[in-house]
Amino acid sequence: MYSSLISKIEKAKRYAEEPERISFRSFEVAFRGENGTHAVSLKGDDWNCECEHFHTTGLCAHVMTLQRVFASHLTDNARFTQEHVPAEASRTTEYAGFQRSRCDSGRVAPP
Ligand SMILES: [Zn+2]
Repeated sequence: MYSSLISKIEKAKRYAEEPERISFRSFEVAFRGENGTHAVSLKGDDWNCECEHFHTTGLCAHVMTLQRVFASHLTDNARFTQEHVPAEASRTTEYAGFQRSRCDSGRVAPP
C-alpha cells in the first residue's frame, strides 16, 4: 500500500522536472498590470485580454508576458501570437510594402 504511494510520489517528482509534458488547454488569470488588473484567458490557441491594446490589435503586453512565463506549457500556436494588422492598414498594399522594405533594408536606424 505504502510502496505504491511512494512510487506515485517518485513519478510526480520526475514529471515535475519535465514541464513540457503539461500543455494548457485553457486558463484564466488576473494580471496586475501597471494601469490596472486585467483578466487574461487562453481557450485552445485563442488568447483574450480585457485591455484596450488587445481589443485593438489582438496582442498586448499581458498576453506576451504569459507566453513567456508559460512557454513550455503552450502549443506553438498559442506561444507565437501575431499582432493583428489594423483593418485600415491591411486594406492597402502600401503597408505590406513598407513592412517589407524596412526588413530588407538591413540599415540600422539612426538613434
Ligand atoms: Zn492586455
